[in-house]
Amino acid sequence: MPRNKASSHFYQRIPLWVRILAGLALGALTGALFGEQASVLKPLGDIFISAIKMLIVPLVFSTLVVGITAMRDPKKMGRIGSKTIALYLLTTAFAIAIGLLAAWLFQPGTGLSLSFDTPVDAKEAPSLVDILVGLVPQNPIDALASGNILQIIVFAIGLGISLTLIGEKGEPVVRVFESFAEAMYKLTELVMAFAPFGVFGLMAYVAGNYGLDVLLPLAKVIGVAYAASIVHVLVVYSGLLKLLGGLNPVRYLRGSLDALVVAYSSASSSGTLPVSIRCAQRNLGVSEGVSGFVLPVGATINMDGTAIYQGVVAVFVAQLTGTDLSMADYGMIIMTGTLASIGTAGVPGAGLIMLSIVMSQIGLPLEAIAVVAGIDRILDMARTSVNVAGDLMVTTLIGKSEGELDLDIYNRKDTV
Ligand code: ASP
Repeated sequence: MPRNKASSHFYQRIPLWVRILAGLALGALTGALFGEQASVLKPLGDIFISAIKMLIVPLVFSTLVVGITAMRDPKKMGRIGSKTIALYLLTTAFAIAIGLLAAWLFQPGTGLSLSFDTPVDAKEAPSLVDILVGLVPQNPIDALASGNILQIIVFAIGLGISLTLIGEKGEPVVRVFESFAEAMYKLTELVMAFAPFGVFGLMAYVAGNYGLDVLLPLAKVIGVAYAASIVHVLVVYSGLLKLLGGLNPVRYLRGSLDALVVAYSSASSSGTLPVSIRCAQRNLGVSEGVSGFVLPVGATINMDGTAIYQGVVAVFVAQLTGTDLSMADYGMIIMTGTLASIGTAGVPGAGLIMLSIVMSQIGLPLEAIAVVAGIDRILDMARTSVNVAGDLMVTTLIGKSEGELDLDIYNRKDTV
């Protein structure tokens, strides 16, 4: 039917990012109008999230093997690894400091009286030795099956290096991985075509379930957390891109948009990983080797948004309970907050659980976590977007510094 054809053309002519943003806005509107009834739309979002999660393991594994074999230089890998860790730590420390500063300036907890009596268990920070030992998989198939990203990375790097070292004999396997990675990129593209609907369903659910009555009493802490997040992305990330990489930050923001919206609506940076990889390669021009390594590591350990949130909430609770924080307390929050954010899994709500590490270190009542638990999803959406934005910023910078960033793609105007 000609009419149908014309209308499908019209839809396809709208760029994907516009469709995704429209899904976000329409979803929020639908949720606001229909309240909890909008939850019937949640399965749309759940299908989308499952579909992107389905991509994570095969995509990360094949991209990384292909990327490492393309680099042909184990030393370069080591250098990229150290730069990645250094930049991730640096930006996280900045993030938590910004969170502290914002909460100290705007005093979101002063003058509020909220009761909290639900007991909460304290979590312990993971020890560095445990983290290191846990990096090496005893059984790579098990790591792939359980989706242990750090172990998958270690195995993929080992395999990639070995394939390079055996030269010609490794080529058939490399070609298989190349073809497999290509297929995974295609599959990501197909799944992303569904993103506007998935984002619509997720937003309708969230907007429908968090009414103003829940949000208003804590509007100030939400405002401070959001403002600190925006400042971190616009000032710290843009500044670092410009200063260290000489890159136009607007291109970075524009190229990251799909991933940011998916992160915002899904509240899962691990789940967003396939979208981030796609943005890094197609919109920002980062090579497979760099994006395939830096992004999965970031989705696992780099949580700047979570760090901001921990800073804001710790100070908020201190104000709420009339506790004075000393300089040493602030230092402690920065240290434990950085560690806690590294240990936070990239799944919805993980940051809330890790908050107890920071709170117990400075002797704040863990029960106060219950106060912010009611609005956690709203805070989680912002912190997840920052988490993903941070991963993409560091990936872009490292790509630039290693000559693994295609500037023609980065500066291209018509990002798809
Ligand atoms: N939901 C966040 C993420 O996936 C983690 C957190 O809860 O802070 O990045």
